[in-house]
Amino acid sequence: MPPVLIIGEVTPDGDAASITGELIAAARPLADGLGVELVAALPGTSSQRAAATAITLGADKAYAVEDPFLDDPSAFDAHVAAAQKLCQEIGPSIVLFGRTITGRDVAPRLAFRLGTCAANDCVEVKLDSDQRLAALRPVFGGSALAWVRCLGDVAVVTVRAKAYEPLEADATRKGEVVNFSPGLGRDAVKSRLVERVKEDQTQGLRLEDARIVVSGGRGLGGPDPFVHLEEIAKLLGGAVGASRAACDAGWVPATLQVGLTGKTVTPDLYLTVGISGASQHMAGCAASKNIVSINKDGDANIFKEARFGAVGDWKNILPAFIEQLQELVK
Ligand SMILES: Cc1cc2nc3c(=O)[nH]c(=O)nc-3n(C[C@H](O)[C@H](O)[C@H](O)COP(=O)(O)OP(=O)(O)OC[C@H]3O[C@@H](n4cnc5c(N)ncnc54)[C@H](O)[C@@H]3O)c2cc1C
Repeated sequence: MPPVLIIGEVTPDGDAASITGELIAAARPLADGLGVELVAALPGTSSQRAAATAITLGADKAYAVEDPFLDDPSAFDAHVAAAQKLCQEIGPSIVLFGRTITGRDVAPRLAFRLGTCAANDCVEVKLDSDQRLAALRPVFGGSALAWVRCLGDVAVVTVRAKAYEPLEADATRKGEVVNFSPGLGRDAVKSRLVERVKEDQTQGLRLEDARIVVSGGRGLGGPDPFVHLEEIAKLLGGAVGASRAACDAGWVPATLQVGLTGKTVTPDLYLTVGISGASQHMAGCAASKNIVSINKDGDANIFKEARFGAVGDWKNILPAFIEQLQELVK
């Protein structure tokens, strides 16, 4: 029986990245519903440990897909070729990727090679009455959600980060860890890493992984006020994000952009300061559990989405807010 396959990710330290557990949680009911194995693939240069973790998180079998060309997660050609070889080996009916930088590039290319289609940025996956995969994804910039189905033999899907909570790890779970060498040659890799530049953002918590995100927009008026957002993020153990207007103005790096053409975040708390709530921005944060906004315009669109809001100038609101936070976290 064709298994359900998740393509997990491995951190630079060789651990399973959080998206791996989330994908296993999404795929477990699919595999159980179809009565097939749930297989996890962990591509990297040293992914044994991550593969073993995948078993504890609910996979039945885990492939440590190891190859020197998989060292760089942005060597997308290598990741596509490795995923294709694994699919040829195990013949899955469903392949789930995370909607990460790697997943969103690799999944559609793998789908093309498998002669099927890919559904991107899905927030829910389930089996339809005919046991085919149905995936729920935002459309029209996040204004609506649509169930889509893949009519090919294989369904390839990317699942949004934080759409699923990982299952509780169970160290007593038994499962097979298989070494799989895709034997990639130079011809499989048409791009190469020239230089690695560490962004300030990546020194702290990754925006996509943060449970609390504090985002600033054009209403901040310049780069300097972002220090207040950094302070709030630090106090709350969160990360800083931004609207495209703030990124385009060069106030903060483009890597902080949240939205349709930026990152998708689904934190427990999304705090916005001086952001109007344009649909393209909301496309990247509307699934946050709680949105709290500060904006001087009471009619700003962001207040339609926000659970709590303060109408006023951030210059008057943030100092007292930060003071309160400092008291609370003492
Ligand atoms: C194809 C496409 C893709 C896009 N992708 C993205 C994307 O990924 N992410 C994204 O963010 N945008 C994206 N945009 C841009 C988007 O349409 C908006 O232009 C952008 O989100 C606006 O950013 P903003 O809310 O910071 O600025 P504005 O819309 O200018 O809003 C600033 C807000 O700050 C408030 N304000 C001003 N001064 C203060 C103050 N002193 N105190 C409190 N509040 C104040 C104002 O009332 C206003 O509501 C995209 C647009 C297109 C066409």
